[in-house]
Amino acid sequence: MSKPVQRQTVAAANGIATDAAFGAVTPAIYLTSSYAFAGFEQPRAHEYTRTSNPSRSMLADTLAKLEGGAGAVITATGTAAVDLVLSQLNSDDLVIAPHDCYGGTYRLLVSRRDKGQFKVAFVDQGDDAAMAAAFRRKPALVFVESPSNPLMRVVDIGAIAARAKAAGAKVSVDNTFLSPALQQPIALGADFVIHSTTKYLNGHTDVVGGAVVAAAKADVETLAAWANIVGTTGAPFDAYMTLRGIRTLFPRIERQQMTAAAVAAFLAGQPQVSAVYYPGLETHPSHAIARKQQAGFGAMLSFELAGGVEAVKHFVEAVRIFNLAESLGGIESLVAHPATMTHAAMGAEARHAAGIGDGLLRLSVGLEAESDLIGDLEQALAAI
Ligand SMILES: *Cc1c(COP(=O)(O)O)cnc(C)c1O
Repeated sequence: MSKPVQRQTVAAANGIATDAAFGAVTPAIYLTSSYAFAGFEQPRAHEYTRTSNPSRSMLADTLAKLEGGAGAVITATGTAAVDLVLSQLNSDDLVIAPHDCYGGTYRLLVSRRDKGQFKVAFVDQGDDAAMAAAFRRKPALVFVESPSNPLMRVVDIGAIAARAKAAGAKVSVDNTFLSPALQQPIALGADFVIHSTTKYLNGHTDVVGGAVVAAAKADVETLAAWANIVGTTGAPFDAYMTLRGIRTLFPRIERQQMTAAAVAAFLAGQPQVSAVYYPGLETHPSHAIARKQQAGFGAMLSFELAGGVEAVKHFVEAVRIFNLAESLGGIESLVAHPATMTHAAMGAEARHAAGIGDGLLRLSVGLEAESDLIGDLEQALAAI
């Protein structure tokens, strides 16, 4: 008996050297919209690329193995992946969503709610009493994002999943911030795992894409059928690129989180910084849960500048290595100002309720040398 294959090996090698035509080590990319039938009423494995495509299938298979799911559906964007899960709801269904979720997810939930497509309760999912009250409203779906964006709040996925199961609700976890290298929501009880593959999975800031991995085969089939009905599936080229990115997922994220831990420790000691949000810090409110359910603390963090928005302006104009840009999870380090960028669509009131201040900055720590990144932050702090 061979040993069970490690997930790092799946990432590096799934689908490698499986080409029957030429023995190509790297899986071919299939840029075709259509597939010839073998004969009358004899379709082959694929008929039309909106429905299915070999390059997309290989990415789906790899992601399903990495997340421990029955299968996956690859979508054009991460937002389309969120929408695909939401598409299964009826108008009377209630979604419990985090009050501090990704700004685009928040906007999507509110936009579809306002069209009467489902109901939403935005809840602080770390607040037990608030969650108990929301569960009494009999939700159909609990939408989890952990760690949350941008405050890195971690919720107990296993506890939420157990409660949801007892209430007959499905659980979907957005695993974008950690990737399957650091967190396995299905093993913790989730029904669906959502990814913006734009981020760590592709990892090189040159593709937008998404995926839904489902724990149950029936859910995979339903979601795949629905993705075909609405035409939300991703492009073959993007699938090829994303699989190429996944090859190095484990070493990238391991190195990036080492540097992020050093950056968090550095920032925590600076007088201009009033708070640092990184689950790896023992002072972080959900450090214990993160330690229990994650294989690492990730490479995302945020921090508050005591000088507020004035200090933010000077800081982001002074950085040289960090780039002021949205998105995250790439090989390059980025700084974002949630209030005016990623979370602008939430509105000031919802941001305030979620604890997202005007002096908050979010960092995505890349693969540059730790000393260069800390040096850059040091000189930018001196410039505020
Ligand atoms: C970026 C992001 C999304 C949306 O993904 P897109 O690929 O930009 O559509 C969803 N959830 C989280 C946590 C994200 O960071």
